[in-house]
Amino acid sequence: MNHNLLITGGAGFIGSHVVKYFVKTYPNYRIYNLDILSYASNLDNLQDIKNKENYTFIKGDICDKDLLKEIFSRYNISRVIHLAAESHVDKSIDDPIKFARVNIIGTLNLLEAAKGYWKNNYLDKLFYHVSTDEVYGSLGNDGLFLETSKYDPHSPYAASKASSDHFVRAYKETYSFPVIISNCSNNFGPNQFTEKLIPLVVQNIIKNKPIPVYGNGENIRDWIYVDDHVKAISLIFHKGQTGETYNIGGSCELKNIDLINKLILITDSLLNRPKGTSKELVKYVLDRPGHDYRYAIDSSKIYDQLGWKPSENFSENIEKTVSWYINQHNQKDSF
Ligand code: NAD
Repeated sequence: MNHNLLITGGAGFIGSHVVKYFVKTYPNYRIYNLDILSYASNLDNLQDIKNKENYTFIKGDICDKDLLKEIFSRYNISRVIHLAAESHVDKSIDDPIKFARVNIIGTLNLLEAAKGYWKNNYLDKLFYHVSTDEVYGSLGNDGLFLETSKYDPHSPYAASKASSDHFVRAYKETYSFPVIISNCSNNFGPNQFTEKLIPLVVQNIIKNKPIPVYGNGENIRDWIYVDDHVKAISLIFHKGQTGETYNIGGSCELKNIDLINKLILITDSLLNRPKGTSKELVKYVLDRPGHDYRYAIDSSKIYDQLGWKPSENFSENIEKTVSWYINQHNQKDSF
């Protein structure tokens, strides 16, 4: 089967890994990467595939309806993996309207463009929407998010993603539209913009700058290596049931402060600094408003139905990640 596959947000963190994986693994697919190239993107992350025959980059906005219409018809798009989004919770607190415009209206524009072009012929068509576990809100010390958990978003970012998920589901119910959604936990790995926790901590250690920790640092996240997420996306893309939602988690819950302490140990060691030198950089700051306490995913549906499992080598993957950020910094004085 050949696909003309539109991937949105492919110059961002997760998107760049998804694009590289699909371009390299499926030379018979034509991959079109649509990205506005916001501050969070970096085309350098796609250097090794940029000249591949089955790859085309398109700079553009998912809010530009005419552009979307043109892309679908010019490239005969049959499938979509939609990752483009504003993704930083803190920025959503400062500018919720922008998050509504990109994450909700942008998704709706894409749905409309696909519906308009596919014209009820849904054979081999797929609209795959990549979402987050933050739509489910916050857990206490027990429990896990299931695909059937109630939506209860707390931040404007989570609310915008929840709303986009609802539109995708509404298209399935109203137009029998061929959709799949996956909701994933916190990703880590190379290519992430420095506003996010892991690259920020590593950068501040390198530069001997304070490491800000929200509240008491006790908030818990379930971490997944980005390559594991990409493999789950590929499996869902190829074997997932149309109309279904799949939760994807790393089964690796960590308190923020414990993660930060691990990053300090690894980074100090890779920089040949005496063990624990950078602990003194930790600075507790006022908590983020509406800061969710705990996220944790029950991935048994994707385990049981599609045979996916996350890799179990968190220590190795986090070391690889820190080492990548240090190398980037050495090459460019930033990353
Ligand atoms: P990111 O911020 O690193 O990348 C987002 C990309 O989207 C950027 O390249 C940006 O230029 C592009 N973009 C933004 N607005 C656009 C627009 N109007 N038109 C076209 N492109 C636009 O984000 P990420 O962390 O890679 O997340 C990708 C997707 O995965 C998002 O939908 C996010 O909600 C979801 N997700 C992320 C995580 C995570 O831990 N990072 C976890 C679960 C789900």
